[in-house]
Amino acid sequence: MAHISTSDSAQSPDAALKPLLTVRDLSVEYRTKSGRVRAVDHVSFDINAGEVFGLAGESGCGKSTIAHAITRLLKPPAYTEGGDIRFQGRNVLELKDDALRAFRWEHVAIVFQSAMNALNPILTIGDQIVDVIRAHTGMSTRQARARALELLQVVGIDAKRIDSYPHQLSGGMRQRTVIATALALNPELIVMDEPTTALDVVVQKQIIDELQQLKKQFGFSILFITHDLSLLVEISDRIGIMYAGELVEIATARQLFKNPRHPYTQRLMNSFPSIHGAKQEMLGIPGSPPDLIHPPTGCRFHPRCSKVIAGVCREIHPQLIPLDATHAAACHLVNEGLHDAN
Ligand code: SF4
Repeated sequence: MAHISTSDSAQSPDAALKPLLTVRDLSVEYRTKSGRVRAVDHVSFDINAGEVFGLAGESGCGKSTIAHAITRLLKPPAYTEGGDIRFQGRNVLELKDDALRAFRWEHVAIVFQSAMNALNPILTIGDQIVDVIRAHTGMSTRQARARALELLQVVGIDAKRIDSYPHQLSGGMRQRTVIATALALNPELIVMDEPTTALDVVVQKQIIDELQQLKKQFGFSILFITHDLSLLVEISDRIGIMYAGELVEIATARQLFKNPRHPYTQRLMNSFPSIHGAKQEMLGIPGSPPDLIHPPTGCRFHPRCSKVIAGVCREIHPQLIPLDATHAAACHLVNEGLHDAN
């Protein structure tokens, strides 16, 4: 099955720029006792310098597996089965130990959902930030502690908290600490996997606002992963929609908000209340994502799609085809001009 990459389909508006990160035809499998699960299937996208690229989709669609593949954090039974990941032109999949260590903190930092898992419960937050700085730079402990203080203040944590243990902080402060640690070495890209999902909406909003300020200040790019498409539309430049391991739509946030083309994106968009526009009934998405050991034939969304084309959708796998310079979708309705999916 041929898959068209974003290099020849939907590009970022700044396609003339060299991307910071390119992911091409990435495939990842989990080798389980019941069989091989292809969690990510020939996924391609770029992230440019200073860009926020969002990845959305339901649980199990492969978005977190992509984050783990990019940061080389996949562990057996997960294996990268094919494709290419390049960061500033360097092949990430071939980085050896020292280069990989430097890549992970100095170039790409990661913020996961559970700050409690990311932080060491028996070290103060200051010591944890100091450890990261000292492991990657020639700074003395004193210099690193001064930098840690600076970073905590940058993310809105009072300097007095530097000697607190993670359990002494609120959930929001712990997540801010993880973000401060991620910023410690001025990385060009921060991968954020559901960074605010565990937080209440007020703290979530505060952290997102702060993140946008930090991005303006430091100029890093973000790969932001969440199931909450309405949040992504607010903060992203471009968004990729994942379904059952595949990228089914990619567009600018504005295009996706105004004119989502794939029926799955339309449903996903309708599953969350928007803070803009008129009140409307939330429809949700019927059924559940498929078993990836035996994915549906043709379009993987067909068992849940209300717009199935008889004789086409169940038989033929739709390709990700460009609709314009920045928008692509993998749906027979859209791609073959049979009907408009709206
Ligand atoms: Fe629905 Fe067919 Fe489009 Fe798949 S290809 S989303 S089944 S209309």
